[in-house]
Amino acid sequence: MRTTTGSDPGQRAAGHQEALPAVDHTPSIDGSADGFAVPGFDAVVRLVTGSLGVPLVSLILQGGTAYWFADGNALPVHDPRALHPRYLEAARSTMPSVVPDTLLDERFREAALELAATPGPIRFFASEPVYTLTGQQIGALCVMDLQPRDGLSENEHTALRDAASLIGAGVVLRSYLGRTDPITQLPHRYAFFDDLRSHLHNDVAHAWVMAIDVAPVQRFNAFIRAMGHAYADELMRAVAQRLQGWIPARTRLYQIGTTRFAAVLPDHHILDDTSRLDDLVARLRQPFDCLGIPLTIQPGVGLLKINASELRGGDPLRLVMNASYAAQHSVRGWAVYNRLQDEHQRQEFFLVTELAAALTERTELDLHYQPRVDLDSGRCVGVEALARWHHPTLGLISPNQFIGLAERAGLMQLLTQWVLEHGVAQLAMWRRDGHDIKLSVNVSSSDLTADLVGRLRDVAEQHKVGLDALELEFTESTLMEHSATTRRHLTAIRQLGAGIAIDDFGTGYSNLAALRQMPATSLKIDQSFVRGMGTSRHDEAIVRSVAELARSMGFRVVVEGVETSQLYESVLGMACDEAQGFHISHPLPASDMLAWLAAHRGMPSRQAVRWVE
Ligand code: C2E
Ligand code: MG
Ligand code: MG
Repeated sequence: MRTTTGSDPGQRAAGHQEALPAVDHTPSIDGSADGFAVPGFDAVVRLVTGSLGVPLVSLILQGGTAYWFADGNALPVHDPRALHPRYLEAARSTMPSVVPDTLLDERFREAALELAATPGPIRFFASEPVYTLTGQQIGALCVMDLQPRDGLSENEHTALRDAASLIGAGVVLRSYLGRTDPITQLPHRYAFFDDLRSHLHNDVAHAWVMAIDVAPVQRFNAFIRAMGHAYADELMRAVAQRLQGWIPARTRLYQIGTTRFAAVLPDHHILDDTSRLDDLVARLRQPFDCLGIPLTIQPGVGLLKINASELRGGDPLRLVMNASYAAQHSVRGWAVYNRLQDEHQRQEFFLVTELAAALTERTELDLHYQPRVDLDSGRCVGVEALARWHHPTLGLISPNQFIGLAERAGLMQLLTQWVLEHGVAQLAMWRRDGHDIKLSVNVSSSDLTADLVGRLRDVAEQHKVGLDALELEFTESTLMEHSATTRRHLTAIRQLGAGIAIDDFGTGYSNLAALRQMPATSLKIDQSFVRGMGTSRHDEAIVRSVAELARSMGFRVVVEGVETSQLYESVLGMACDEAQGFHISHPLPASDMLAWLAAHRGMPSRQAVRWVE
């Protein structure tokens, strides 16, 4: 029902190069992007039409915007230039007016009151000023008839006055609903966009948009759960106040989300002196005294330079929020929007959604198995399950790419569960076929919770596989990250009979004391050392001494990344129990495993070497 006919000339006139447009705090129902919707406006118009018996009703706002109705229905858009001066006069007058017959009135001699939609001139005209609840006049409600009338009866006048005040209340209601935050009383996101748009249209080359994120959403929700909404409201009021203390004069602060503020900075040289931004961050990092309870927030200030053409069809808030999010996790606390980083994040987000779908549909994920050979017997004693993701358009995505992603997106447990179910089911089949092999599954730090033990037991029971045929591989750093709790969960896994391997050993920073306390069964020496053995005597020495040390501490020693026969020969001569690597086999799809097992019944081994000797 929107029949907007003009923008506010007051807005157009204001503003010059350096200053933001003078902001009109009048609640506005002018043509904003979100459409016109004063609650109950239609009903009020129908009421007036019926009780006064007039066919035409219009609401004229002070800025010249007009909404027209004939017989209670909205009329199409009307050319603002054709707005008769009498309407504007009425919209700006605090007095009601009644013109019984326009053809007999001086003020209509120059130009008759006409509407394109009506067959003849308007003869009867009456107006009533519209006020907001706080007493600001915002325009007039006008009623018209094509016939002259004697005027308005007492009852009709009362009806028109009531209708005008209902509209005033509706305008305020809408303004509160759509434009002002009820807690901080700061203007909302819509107002931010309107102001940014008009700022950039005032021949200003560009603007700096600033977004201030106050707290990560999860933390804020936890805060609300702990302290209640009243505390959260108080905190937001306190933050708003602190921001107002920093923000340059004549610059408006907006609340664009529950924990997010924004401003359009008039200063085009904000980055010339970054100490101002440091000052803002320092102020926000000071603890807040929120109803007597001191609280520290984690602020992030994002900045985005934008011009009018970038605004068209763009989403500056998304971009600047990207920067404020990055800033929250930075030492400096503020950051300028970085397109590359944004694209990276979007790509990551895309992949996360795709991965989540892949995990539910389970048609794109697959497991490959890499054999592990016992160096004493030369026999394959186990396989490591390695996840593979075949994306329909992006092709094969490496686990190095998607494992970290799954971890960050909270999808890790889902992935591990899938690997466990899929891998153990496959192992059960091989073992039923008489292959005495074990299965190793990689698990991440987010898997290391109390229910991992239950998950492992359930899957083993379901497929009737003994838990001693399973091993979980944790990277060295995962194991070192956690301490007492980690050890408890690991001990529980050990008590079930499953093995625990320390993966990629040598890439973390474990000390020997911590290592000794780990209830692990095997230790996998990272492939970076193993690969270097051929060329670096240091690496050879490292592998040799780590293997000896680990074995003397009771671990079974596995060497990863054995790519060549020379490396294989070398590790045969060390205190290593098992080898894994491309020389033995690349990771294989399950369908190729049986053929591989048949063809590789015996790799070179210590027994074979001794036998030859
Ligand atoms: P990882 O657990 O250390 O697995 C060994 C990785 O080294 C595998 O890479 C394997 O293909 C590769 N590799 C094996 N032998 C050689 C060799 O001789 N030379 C070289 N250059 N590489 C070799 P992949 O499959 O790309 O996996 C990379 C990492 O992703 C794994 O390292 C593991 O940390 C992680 N990952 C793979 N699948 C899973 C999974 O299902 N869950 C979890 N949490 N992590 C996984
Ligand atoms: Mg591994
Ligand atoms: Mg490894």
